[in-house]
Amino acid sequence: MPDPVYLDYAATTPLRPEARDAMLDVLSRRWGNPSSGHHWGREARAALEDARARFAAVIGAAPAEVVFTRGGTEADNLAVLGRARAEAARPVACSAIEHKAVLAACKVAAGDEGRLHVVPVDEAGIVDVDALAEIVRDHAPSLVAVMWASNEVGALQPVERIADLCAAAGVTFHSDAVQALGKVPVRVDAVPVDLLAFSAHKLGGPRGAGVLFARRGTRLHPLLHGGGQERGLRPGTEDVASAVAFAVAAEVAEAERVEVMGRIGAMRDRLEAGLCERIAGLRINAAAAPRLATISNLSVPGADPEMLLAALDLEGIAASSGSACSSGAVEPSHVLMAMGLPAEIAGPSVRFSLGRDSTEQDVDRVLEVFPRVVERVRM
Ligand code: PLP
Repeated sequence: MPDPVYLDYAATTPLRPEARDAMLDVLSRRWGNPSSGHHWGREARAALEDARARFAAVIGAAPAEVVFTRGGTEADNLAVLGRARAEAARPVACSAIEHKAVLAACKVAAGDEGRLHVVPVDEAGIVDVDALAEIVRDHAPSLVAVMWASNEVGALQPVERIADLCAAAGVTFHSDAVQALGKVPVRVDAVPVDLLAFSAHKLGGPRGAGVLFARRGTRLHPLLHGGGQERGLRPGTEDVASAVAFAVAAEVAEAERVEVMGRIGAMRDRLEAGLCERIAGLRINAAAAPRLATISNLSVPGADPEMLLAALDLEGIAASSGSACSSGAVEPSHVLMAMGLPAEIAGPSVRFSLGRDSTEQDVDRVLEVFPRVVERVRM
């Protein structure tokens, strides 16, 4: 059996050696509680504040605007619900293709009275900015949430236009940048966004570590209550090792971004071109959009959605499916459905996501195996 091929980097990534070394250093030498006033506490505090400054520098923020959280989901929830609680009883708006961490938080923030306005996307997966402008004008939401890059199809959203639109209307703009950091430029000194969510494990950091960027002056309420850590926004003894590892991973990812994304983009394009040649009727989702270099989302009309991934797994190829299993039935991805794909095309879809360790051999193997798998699972 050939070596297994991992093409699910949008789900998670292996820990970078630089992040692991930084983490071990904190765990073994600077393990104090940053709130303690003694030597050990001061050492841990210095490590935490150094990580905050380093992460802030990667995105062009001030250190005081960086709030460490326990993951991307928590950062998204703190942005959406923390903002909603600071602005009682006003509508919220989000795009139809948000990650569940934003979508579910927006539903809670909007309450039962239908105060959630969902912004449509076009067939390429790009948010309809005119429809958003209308919602902002007619409903004065307290928050607009549109992700920076789609985790499913990779489509890059017009965040600059949306940020300008929100700034002009005095509406808070949150963007989930979990999949964008380290893959495209994400700078808060270039885009007037108010809130951004990040997650360490998508770029070689540890799982369970996140950041919320909150621009100075953005009023937020905490979701947890306890001590005053992270300026009262995220109480609980800080996970210094994870914060340091996240900052290191973000720095390295940003430093190598242009080189690595160029290499990966060429591999992704070769993969897509080769599969289109070999598989009749194959559809590349969001092909017309500006996209992350790392993601290829493919629909295979006529294939059994459940069998597709299982058959790939049997061949030692790890990918993921847009379809979600809810209450026993496989349902097509809400993202592909929002892009207007009929269920029979949205259902049998596969997401290959490449990462810094992907190789030309990985691409060769998929080119050899996937057409064979499709043949087998087409109904
Ligand atoms: N937002 C997006 C776009 C994601 O892809 C993910 C991860 O799947 C998350 C949020 C959640 O991040 P975490 O796994 O750190 O909670």
